[in-house]
Amino acid sequence: MADLAQAVRVFAPAKINLTLHVTGQRADGYHLLDSLVVFADVGDHLAVHRQDGFSMRVEGREAAAVPADTDNLVLRVAALFKDLQGARFHLLKELPVASGIGGGSADAAAAMRALAALSQAGNAPDMADVLRLGADIPMCVRSDAARVRGIGDRIEPLTDLPPLHAVLVNPRRAVSTPSVFKALRNRNQPPMPETLPHFADASDMAAWLGTQRNDLEAAATSVDPAIAQVKAALEACQGCMLARMSGSGATCFALFADHRTAKNAAARLCEAHPDWWIKPARLGDQSQRAAPQLIRS
Ligand code: ATP
Repeated sequence: MADLAQAVRVFAPAKINLTLHVTGQRADGYHLLDSLVVFADVGDHLAVHRQDGFSMRVEGREAAAVPADTDNLVLRVAALFKDLQGARFHLLKELPVASGIGGGSADAAAAMRALAALSQAGNAPDMADVLRLGADIPMCVRSDAARVRGIGDRIEPLTDLPPLHAVLVNPRRAVSTPSVFKALRNRNQPPMPETLPHFADASDMAAWLGTQRNDLEAAATSVDPAIAQVKAALEACQGCMLARMSGSGATCFALFADHRTAKNAAARLCEAHPDWWIKPARLGDQSQRAAPQLIRS
């Protein structure tokens, strides 16, 4: 058998909900969703080394808002790998916390990819345990465009989406997901069509997305009105084809026809709102970029 790798690094891309329909609620309280999800070339970075015992270090611009102890989703998901003796995690935290772009879930999923690469086959945790830690973690494991239903457990890959160019904006205000679901009203909206149309290009897709929704947007905006300000600023950008909130907020995205237009819009927004987190991003399949890379010592 080949020697196992001693250390790997993994990219943890931000998750963007292009649509998010709340379709029901289970008796145990879990909400049922139907969501089109893509991943961004913006995210956190995780390095994982084999060692006995667990340890974690968190650095980066958003590190202060993240626990570096056993509350961190990275360590919580690692604890689900039954035969794992330990690992050393170094997380570079770039994504704002509690922002609707799945930062913690992306990190946990990245840890799962890394630990699968470092440990013996057959050691993978049970998906039901992973879902209990975070409904977004399974979809983040592949980091591939998907339609996600149920409580995050029904994942259908979407293979022929056009590449999308976006600007992501967070007003640097954490929004708690439970508070948004608590504020949710008007649950009887039309469902997403069972079969998605074929999209000729990004503008075709943006036009169709405009006919769909994020059902959490109104609720999140009632929790934090800054979301309306972010969305209005994105809509006012030259070339904006669609602006919408992702997940339970507060991050919103806008779609543009190409990366240059998105970068120009991001630059203007940075001038007008130096206190906001603003990133131009390519959206789509990030599975190759998110694959574990061997660290050579
Ligand atoms: P989602 O889009 O999946 O709802 P989110 O962006 O709203 O996610 P997260 O950034 O994942 O929210 O943070 C949710 C909570 O998880 C925070 O309160 C934070 O303290 C905790 N947490 C634990 N580990 C991490 C991590 N590695 N990164 C970010 N948050 C973490």
